[in-house]
Amino acid sequence: MLRIWVSGTALTCLALLLLTVLFPHGSIAMILLASILLGLASAGMSASQARAMRRSVETSLELSARQVRVTLDTLQRESSRLEAILSSMVEGVVAVDPLLRITFVNRAFAELMGIALPIEPGVPLVQVARDHALLDMCSGVLASGQSQQKRLVLASAGARSFEVQVAPLTGDSHRGAIVMLYDVTDIERLERIRRDFVANVSHELRTPLAAVTGYAETLLEGALDDAENGRKFVEIILAKARQLNNIVTDLLVLSSLESGKPPLPEAISLRESIEGALRTVEPVAKTRGVRLVCGPIDNSSVLAHELRLEQVFVNLLENAIKFNRPDGEVRVDMARSNGHTVVRVKDTGSGIPSRDLPRIFERFYRVDKARSRATGGTGLGLAIVKHAVEQMGGSVSVESRLGQGSVFTIALPSAENNLSANS
Ligand code: ADP
Repeated sequence: MLRIWVSGTALTCLALLLLTVLFPHGSIAMILLASILLGLASAGMSASQARAMRRSVETSLELSARQVRVTLDTLQRESSRLEAILSSMVEGVVAVDPLLRITFVNRAFAELMGIALPIEPGVPLVQVARDHALLDMCSGVLASGQSQQKRLVLASAGARSFEVQVAPLTGDSHRGAIVMLYDVTDIERLERIRRDFVANVSHELRTPLAAVTGYAETLLEGALDDAENGRKFVEIILAKARQLNNIVTDLLVLSSLESGKPPLPEAISLRESIEGALRTVEPVAKTRGVRLVCGPIDNSSVLAHELRLEQVFVNLLENAIKFNRPDGEVRVDMARSNGHTVVRVKDTGSGIPSRDLPRIFERFYRVDKARSRATGGTGLGLAIVKHAVEQMGGSVSVESRLGQGSVFTIALPSAENNLSANS
C-alpha cells in the first residue's frame, strides 16, 4: 500500500512538475487535474488502479506535450513571418529598450545607416544613429508613452530626409519603442523640381506677355497713328505671341511625353523621318544662309514613334541652324553600332561651353538666354529630344567645341535586330 502511495505521489509530483514547466503561468484545468490525482494517490489504491491512473496521466501528459508543441510551432511560424515582413519592408525599422539600446533592426535600417548585420543585441542606438533629433524623439515617446511623427534629415543616413514615426512598445518583457523611417528624399526632390518648373513656366510666360501688353497699350495711347512705329510694335506683338505659342506647344509635347503610357514603338523608316524633318527646317536654313547636307542614309528601320522621331530631328536641326554662323553647314550622318542605329547632327556653329554641356538637356536651360529668345527658342527643345529618345529605348549625347561647332548623336534600337531577336 505504501509503495502504491509512494509511486502515486511520485507520479503526481512529476505531473505537477511537468505542468509547472510547460505552463509557467498555470492553467487552472491542469492544476485541478493534478490536485485530483494527488487526492486519489493519497487516498490509496490497488496496483491495477495505480497502473490505470498512470496510463491516464501519461496520456494526458502526452496530449499536453503535443498541444504545447503545436503552440510553439505556431508561435515560431508567426515570429518567422513577422521577421520576414519586417526584413522585406523598404522602411527602416529599429526597436529599442527603455535605455535606448537596440533590440531589433531590419535590413533596410542597417543599409540606411551603413551597418553590417547581424548587429550585437544591446548596442546603444546613439552608436548607430548619432542624430539628436531622432534620439530625443525616442526618449520623448518612452517618457510619454505617446507616438510621435516628424520629418527629419538624418546625418547618419547620408543626410537623406525621412518621415520618422516612433511608437511605444508595451508588454511585460519587451517595453521600449519602435522607430520606422520612411525615406522621402526622392519625393522631396520631385516636389522641388515641380515647384521650380512651375516658377520657370510662369517666368517664361510673363516676359512675352508683358511685352504684348506693353506694346498694345502704347499703340492704344497714340502709336496707332504713327505709321512707322505702329507697324514695328505690331510686329513685336506678333513675335511675342508666336513665342508664347511655341512655349505652350512645347509644354504640351512634354506633358504628353510624361503622361499616360507611351505608344508602342514601331519599325519606322529612318530615311523618311530624316527627309521629313529636313523639309520642315529647309525654309529657316535658307533664310539664315545655312547649307543642309545629308550623308548616305540606308533603308534601315528603327524602333520608334513616327511623330516623335521626326520631332526629335526637327528640334536638333533647328538648333543646328539657329546657333550656326551665316554660310555655315549642318550635316546629318547615319551609322550602325551594336544593334543600334546612330544618327549624328553636326553643325559649324558657336559651340557650347564645356561647363554648360551637362545641363543643356534640362528644361529651360539656355547658354545664352537672350540669343535663344531672339530666335524664338523656348529652352525646351533638347528636354523634349532627351525625353522622347529615352522613351523609345535610345540615348542622346553631345560633343562640342567652342567656336567650331557641336555634334548631337542619337542612338535608337534598330528594328531589324530587335524584330529578328523577337521572332
Ligand atoms: P532653345 O529653344 O533655346 O533652342 P533647347 O532646349 O533646344 O532650347 O537648347 C538649349 C540650349 O542649348 C540653347 O539655348 C543653346 O544655348 C544650346 N544649344 C542647343 N543646341 C545647340 C547647338 N547646336 N549649338 C550651340 N548651342 C546649342
